[in-house]
Amino acid sequence: MTWSFSLGRLLGSELRVHVTFLLLLAWVGFAAYSAGGLPAAIDNLIFVLALFACVVAHEFGHALMARRYGIKTPDITLLPIGGLARLERMPEKPMQEVYVALAGPAVNIVIWIVLVALGAGTPFETFAQIDSPGTGLLDRLAYINLLLAAFNMIPAFPMDGGRVFRALLCLRMDRVKATRLAAIGGQIVAIGLGFLGLSTANPILVLIAVFVFIAANAESQDVALRSAARRVLARDAMITEFHALSPSDTLSTAAQAVIHTTQHEFPVLEDDPGLLGFVTRDRLFAALASDQPRSTSALSVMDADIPSVALTTGLEEVLEHLHKGAPAIAVVTHGGRMVGYITRENIGELMVIQGR
Ligand SMILES: [Zn+2]
Repeated sequence: MTWSFSLGRLLGSELRVHVTFLLLLAWVGFAAYSAGGLPAAIDNLIFVLALFACVVAHEFGHALMARRYGIKTPDITLLPIGGLARLERMPEKPMQEVYVALAGPAVNIVIWIVLVALGAGTPFETFAQIDSPGTGLLDRLAYINLLLAAFNMIPAFPMDGGRVFRALLCLRMDRVKATRLAAIGGQIVAIGLGFLGLSTANPILVLIAVFVFIAANAESQDVALRSAARRVLARDAMITEFHALSPSDTLSTAAQAVIHTTQHEFPVLEDDPGLLGFVTRDRLFAALASDQPRSTSALSVMDADIPSVALTTGLEEVLEHLHKGAPAIAVVTHGGRMVGYITRENIGELMVIQGR
């Protein structure tokens, strides 16, 4: 469930509208209608459509700048906080990310300059009457563009300024830490906006605050890993070349396997029915340290509680199993035969190879 619907394609991207963007439009229209009747509502409808166009232009600023770096934008979703251009990937170089982030607000600044050149004024008291028909359309549009640019330059996730902030932090620290800092900033901004919205009885501001908070939180929980994991299947991540133990092997044999391979986990395989469990290096070492006879069966240190997944299971589900503490996840065919397995370590390797 994405809570958004498609409006069609434009300049190579699918344009989608989030339902809450419609709530914003409805609120603006309703406020105008109750203040000045139908003429005011029509006047505001035109304003709202123009605002809609400015938000779309902002997003295409991001999308077209990203295209310069060879990155496609499959879809653009309009949200009350300005919209979200979903780039196929993030630019590798921090400065490219900065340019992509700045391109959106820059479009609003250009629109503002054009409107001012056309004779629009942006007195700051206009904001109080942003939804009233008394103020000229051009003035209100000029103001909202300045506001869109300023709001999006707040240096916190999920605003564009948050991306710029993170890219600059990345010059001094690793990306995960930089993301976390920018996300904490986003949550502080969200709480501030929420208080402002509640104290001025502005439902849109409260809505935006909730949005910003959720988006910032999602970012800090390593969205990159999750989205990468969703696209990768168990069969693409599994280890297929490995050394296996047999049920008759002893601790001594298992110890030899640790020395002669780079594996830390060893599947114990039987012809029928197949996988019995896994012997891990840690448990083996613990058994050897406790002076157990080396002739003891390796089964005594085997972990038999190994979850299994199908070849086409998404890596996200595999990660969940691993988070619950299993040393490895078996990948099995329809017939239940183990064809490979996945460990935390090889998921880490996969992420590095995929550049996440
Ligand atoms: Zn933006």
